[in-house]
Amino acid sequence: MNLTVIDHPLARHYLTVLRDERTQPEAFRAAARGLTYTLVMEATKRLPFFEIEVTTPMEKTIGYRVDNVAAVAVLRAGLGMLDAVLDMLPGCKVGFAGVQRDEETALPQEYYSRLPDLSESSVFVLEPMLATGGSLSWAVEKVKSSGARDITCLCVVTAPDGVRRMYDDHPDVHIIAAAHDRELNDRAYILPGLGDMGDRLFGTF
Ligand code: URA
Repeated sequence: MNLTVIDHPLARHYLTVLRDERTQPEAFRAAARGLTYTLVMEATKRLPFFEIEVTTPMEKTIGYRVDNVAAVAVLRAGLGMLDAVLDMLPGCKVGFAGVQRDEETALPQEYYSRLPDLSESSVFVLEPMLATGGSLSWAVEKVKSSGARDITCLCVVTAPDGVRRMYDDHPDVHIIAAAHDRELNDRAYILPGLGDMGDRLFGTF
């Protein structure tokens, strides 16, 4: 329905590196980057593109261009996917959405947001771990209110609760992931998962 789990040997390879508890931050960041390339390849299949004329050294022919693309990284773990998106779409606009869980209410609480003008943009929201879906749903709401034309979420691993929550809150938004895992534990970590993505990216244990 709203989820595509990509089926590619390289995605499986990089995901295994990310899952392995022995992987250190430098290798972890490289694997996150490699895996994100495979997610971007899948996500960009849906992008609108425009026909343009291009002149080769031989003659004129038809070419194509994608345009008006943006990436919004959900802080802080989404930063681990951003460089790969920029490698593949160097002209894309970039925004940041910082949200944390209020320990008393358990509701998402904004601590930093900076979005470019997203009117008529195709937006990729980068949220590696889709656990309960609270942060991602909040970030997508913000992106929608900035005028995005269409929104796709790029995740490394999803859990059933998060996918269901996204479908309930944003049935128009598609999710692309490398794996759909079994369940959440009582602290809302994904099982089998890969642990805390932000801590593993930045070595904060
Ligand atoms: N965020 C993470 O970093 N890991 C999880 O398993 C769930 C949320």
